[in-house]
Amino acid sequence: MTTTHDTIPFEQALEKFDPVLGLETHVELGTASKMFCSCPTEFGAAANTQVCPVCLGLPGSMPVVNAMAVESTIRMGLALNCSIAEWCRFARKNYFYPDMPKDYQVSQYDEPLCFDGYLDVTVETDDGPREFRVEIERVHMEEDTGKLTHAGGATGRIHGADYSLVDYNRAGIPLIEIVTKPIEGTGSLAPLVARAYVTELRDLMRGLGVSDVRMEEGSLRCDVNVSLAPPGDPWGTRSETKNVNSLRSVERAVHSEIERQAAVLSSGGRVIQETRHFHEDTGRSTSGRSKEQAEDYRYFPEPDLVPVAPSREWVEELRATLPEPPSVKRARLRAEWGVSDHDFQTLINAGALLLVEETIAAGVDQAAARKWWSGELTRIANDRGLELDSLGVTPDDIKRVEELLAEGSLNDKLARQVFDGVIAGEGTVDEIVASRGLGVVSDDSALLTAIDAALAEQPDVAEKIKGGKVQAAGAIVGAVMKATRGQADAAKVRSLLLERLGVEG
Ligand code: ADP
Ligand code: MG
Ligand code: ZN
Repeated sequence: MTTTHDTIPFEQALEKFDPVLGLETHVELGTASKMFCSCPTEFGAAANTQVCPVCLGLPGSMPVVNAMAVESTIRMGLALNCSIAEWCRFARKNYFYPDMPKDYQVSQYDEPLCFDGYLDVTVETDDGPREFRVEIERVHMEEDTGKLTHAGGATGRIHGADYSLVDYNRAGIPLIEIVTKPIEGTGSLAPLVARAYVTELRDLMRGLGVSDVRMEEGSLRCDVNVSLAPPGDPWGTRSETKNVNSLRSVERAVHSEIERQAAVLSSGGRVIQETRHFHEDTGRSTSGRSKEQAEDYRYFPEPDLVPVAPSREWVEELRATLPEPPSVKRARLRAEWGVSDHDFQTLINAGALLLVEETIAAGVDQAAARKWWSGELTRIANDRGLELDSLGVTPDDIKRVEELLAEGSLNDKLARQVFDGVIAGEGTVDEIVASRGLGVVSDDSALLTAIDAALAEQPDVAEKIKGGKVQAAGAIVGAVMKATRGQADAAKVRSLLLERLGVEG
């Protein structure tokens, strides 16, 4: 069923109603094997090649918990300031769907591994940055389902399809679900708070190394709950927009749902508790299935798995390995580098922060590290529609180029050509300097030959310099640089020239 509703403009909606948000985020963990079997988890394999009796749900097969998945979930819970259960169980969530061969999903129900945490997020407003504390209800473990492809229809959805294909490679991949408590008091910043929260969560997981969190590959998916109520009233009925899969869409889904619900409520209607589907093309959602009669999943403790009882010593060991939280790290780097808010934001927007940090750690001066990543390399990445970290340039490449610049065997112009070579996959920095013949000409006799030729061509300039007009040397230096196709060290040319003419620099 597809219903569309009128909307009322966002600003007007917020004059009448306060929004409440709830975000449920599913993240595929980056473990080498699945949640309850040893099948590989690599993305993009041929359909149904990464399956076994356990993840196919064949009778008699027995699951075993992946310790690495438990560890990753605890680390995530700790990073979100959660309490960690001393003892908890998995639960069977029973329902039928063709992407789930067992007819139940192993999840956690009333005994999540992690609970009662929070994540602070910052949004930029016209009056400067504002911080919101998003409270975390629970972080629990579960297994992913398989993937259905509906073929032969116009929309790729099941309605109108001729047939459907199922790929169980994804079935049993470890997922964690992170559920927030209702988020109140965001007002017109609700869409931005939702986006900032998911962004922060993504960066946190990248920092922990528990997932590659690629939203475009579906390894991070978000269900966006929104309700509206007049100020002071109890919370309204929520809708749940499912599987929103980009940061921008999270923001737009909240925005459009506020406009839609405000129209429903303003015209005297009531919001139905339902799931909705977000459409990237229109920026609007359509109605999915009604949740008014909460499904009875007949949850019960999973009898084939032992309870999870992480020892306090282990939890504390894991706590001690947590990296610095992303927000703390950003504040520290900004202070350490002493850069302006604007320059720092440029680095963040370019996705260069961690690369600059690694480049400095490799021994490169911080100004140089920032210059390369936010200048030349960002330009090239933008031109090619690539992310900086997929250009193929490493912090060590920058280190080597900077060494060659410092010893005068490269200049900036040649260095740019070296990076072109690195990006083209022509080899290491030294190999490219050799194969493209990019070394600075530092052989004095070759430079003197070029200087003499330039002086012979511009005798009037030569006379001026000899007469004490040292500024005129620029014309000769320029001619030498041109003759050597930029492969000379300009400062060196200048001093050789003055020496040649017997003039003090
Ligand atoms: P479900 O299984 O129906 O998805 P969950 O408890 O897993 O329910 O998640 C519901 C999400 O919606 C949570 O993030 C919760 O904080 C949030 N939520 C609950 N009530 C409201 C409400 N009235 N308005 C907005 N969000 C809500
Ligand atoms: Mg849910
Ligand atoms: Zn398997």
